[in-house]
Amino acid sequence: MAEKEFNVKIITPDRIFYDGTASMVEFNTTEGEIGVYPEHIPLTTILSPGVLTIHDDSGLKTAALHSGFAEIREDRVTFLAEIAEWPDEIDVRRAEQAEKRARERLTGHKIDVDTARAELALKRALARESASAKR
Ligand code: ATP
Repeated sequence: MAEKEFNVKIITPDRIFYDGTASMVEFNTTEGEIGVYPEHIPLTTILSPGVLTIHDDSGLKTAALHSGFAEIREDRVTFLAEIAEWPDEIDVRRAEQAEKRARERLTGHKIDVDTARAELALKRALARESASAKR
């Protein structure tokens, strides 16, 4: 028997990134990682850069998902994301350079560093590297 599924829609400013069904989705929020199954209690969460995993009939789909929010309802999850990338869209070298820059800013002990911004840049770079490794 087929597993229970729910609708998943991921919308970014420039495209409908994903519109399909899933038996489970995992992603990162400002409160930590979350796994959503069908009939989850209604919840709105703020996204934090990380890897999104969609479990469906055909297996796993992985992407990097960076910011925005997710609206969870019993029969669907809708993501309004600023940036989402499939593994084959990610330039790993660029992400590694962004990681290096962010780490240098965070460990450089300079006074004019925006630490929160550097931490977010580091999270985006690491999310891209992890998602890309799953291509
Ligand atoms: P960078 O410092 O390399 O620009 P960033 O984290 O500051 O990285 P973002 O502001 O998150 O970049 O993204 C800006 C645009 O560049 C988005 O469209 C995003 O998809 C794209 N982008 C950023 N990094 C990469 C990458 N490593 N591979 C592919 N596209 C990327």
